[in-house]
Amino acid sequence: MKAFIGGKLVLCDRVESGQALLFDEKIIGICNMDEIPSEAERIDVSGKLVLPGLIDIHTHGYGGHDCSDGDIGGMRKIALELTKNGVTAFCPTTMTLSYDSIERAFDIARRERAEFDEKRAFVLGVNCEGPFISEKKKGAQSGEFIRSPDVGLMERNRDILRLVTVAPELEGSLEFIKETAIMGIKVSLGHTDCDFERAMEAIDAGASHFTHLFNAMTPLNHRAPGAVGAALVSDAYCELIADTIHVHPGLFSSAAKAKRDKLVLITDSMRAAGMPDGNYTLGGQAVTVKDGECRLLDGTLAGSVLRLNEALRNMASHTDLPLHEIVSMATLNPAKAVGADLDRGSIEAGKRADFAVCDNNFNVVATYINGEKI
Ligand SMILES: [Zn+2]
Repeated sequence: MKAFIGGKLVLCDRVESGQALLFDEKIIGICNMDEIPSEAERIDVSGKLVLPGLIDIHTHGYGGHDCSDGDIGGMRKIALELTKNGVTAFCPTTMTLSYDSIERAFDIARRERAEFDEKRAFVLGVNCEGPFISEKKKGAQSGEFIRSPDVGLMERNRDILRLVTVAPELEGSLEFIKETAIMGIKVSLGHTDCDFERAMEAIDAGASHFTHLFNAMTPLNHRAPGAVGAALVSDAYCELIADTIHVHPGLFSSAAKAKRDKLVLITDSMRAAGMPDGNYTLGGQAVTVKDGECRLLDGTLAGSVLRLNEALRNMASHTDLPLHEIVSMATLNPAKAVGADLDRGSIEAGKRADFAVCDNNFNVVATYINGEKI
């Protein structure tokens, strides 16, 4: 048994100081300092924040590797490198590519999840972002491989899929949403040119999520509220890329207040994350990274080099929200969004002892997975 002592414990509804957190592979509970069992190994985290392990449900790559490279070594490197940012679970995210490439990426994710050894971030399942998207709002995705919604791809891969993006204006999308949601795969609306009404119909059909709110979707106009309007007024989860480049930080606070515990911080990171500026690829397209911005040759934003702990820092510096609400945006909210909150996402007795120990500026000083320091 271990005990964190001296730190601030960031729980889902408050921050606790002056108490100890007991854990082995699982979280045992919180106790007063004079109640720590004598056999517990005391770990002094004075002056630090103890957060639940961070969860990134939308990342394409990290540290030079892409989840769609079809390379188990690369996937493993991503899973290991992400722990440096406090991430303990993630959804490798595929893009608009050929079915061959997409299903090869699914296989790699399957293998990595099956061979998990508790020394790197856990693959919760795949986030399939494309190919069922709008040509008009494809963003940095390749138009060449865009297809109509296809339940077959979902059925064949339901064991590894957690989330799929669909543009609801595509023909057959409502049926696709119904059938996919019944399989237990969460459906996200995104890369879409749909109007407000169609987005609301898609939510009625079972969609429960929006892919990177504001980016690659119809904007909010007071007479045509668009996909953004539907995202804000509905009960669906909304991803936000809080790098201050994809979305102006002046909107962080209103997005958070509109969505409350349904706002999910993601990185949408590509292989250049955790690497120096330079030339890279994303989904087969050339991307130049300069001063934290990733762009295609035509200037289109192409993923990010954001780290999830940085997203927390950006949220904290641009809003006046309480710390526990901000931390939940990268822990409990994403866990709930993909149905992984039974054993992850918050510091509660019985959940896995996955933690990110940070300073007050969200610099990660230690990451724990299943109770062991990585
Ligand atoms: Zn993405």
